Amino acid sequence: MAQGSAKIRIAHAAPIGQGARLLRVERVDGAELGFAGGQYVIINTGVTLPGGKLAKRAYSMLSSDAEQRAVEIAVKRIDAGPGSNVLNDIAVGAELEWSGPWGKLRLPPGFSGRALVIATDTGITAALGIARSAAAAGAAQLDLLWLVEDGDYFVSEAFVRERLPAAVRLTVAGGFPPVGHPERPARACALVGDHVADGPRDAVLCAGDGAVIYPIRDRLGSLGAPEGSVLLESFFNNPLKKSL
Ligand SMILES: Cc1cc2nc3c(=O)[nH]c(=O)nc-3n(C[C@H](O)[C@H](O)[C@H](O)COP(=O)(O)OP(=O)(O)OC[C@H]3O[C@@H](n4cnc5c(N)ncnc54)[C@H](O)[C@@H]3O)c2cc1C
Repeated sequence: MAQGSAKIRIAHAAPIGQGARLLRVERVDGAELGFAGGQYVIINTGVTLPGGKLAKRAYSMLSSDAEQRAVEIAVKRIDAGPGSNVLNDIAVGAELEWSGPWGKLRLPPGFSGRALVIATDTGITAALGIARSAAAAGAAQLDLLWLVEDGDYFVSEAFVRERLPAAVRLTVAGGFPPVGHPERPARACALVGDHVADGPRDAVLCAGDGAVIYPIRDRLGSLGAPEGSVLLESFFNNPLKKSL
């Protein structure tokens, strides 16, 4: 299925924790999305922003790419943010538009090496998508490191473990400083340095806070990761652009 926009329907919704929602979404025309684990869609929430633009927001699939007709996303409510509030409140059966799939955060087709996936905060959705898709494709060794403030931040550790294939080794670095805390990059770099002390990875994929994952890439580079072997997807605080 080629990239493009399509009408979608909210097929199922369930609260997850205090301020987040799990949504199952499908195309109204029944077509496949054609995504790879780690990619995202951009949903037109239908909200008009004060400047007149429509609020279009990106969400990474947390479901496996073995299933292409219905995908799962999880949306954390961000204060009074227009997009996340619409998706936390929207009725099952409602229809919206999306475009996609987008994004280069994905393992190469047929990848069979040793990979490390690093997620901060809500970046765990993309990490789940990568890990579940890699397992469905029979890919080899995969470690997942999740840097998160605490169990109430978004989805729970149990939610993640229930969905992770048994072969994936999950490390949850709980108690990570909150978003915006100045110590986050240094703490993350130290944790990642410890994590790769047992040997290099063929691929490293990072998703979440741009203020953290760019320094992680630099640290991995200084530890010998080849140029281009560390892929990044900023969910917020993207140093390359102000907003999506
Ligand atoms: C590639 C990509 C994938 C994404 N996948 C997901 C996902 O799977 N689940 C999900 O909940 N969100 C995801 N996001 C974030 C999402 O696109 C929106 O930014 C978020 O839902 C807030 O939108 P809003 O309209 O409610 O608030 P806005 O008014 O747009 O946001 C207010 C501010 O909060 C920032 N922000 C967004 N997320 C966070 C966060 N976790 N912590 C702190 N600040 C944040 C935004 O960048 C913005 O500066 C993703 C973003 C990108 C770029």
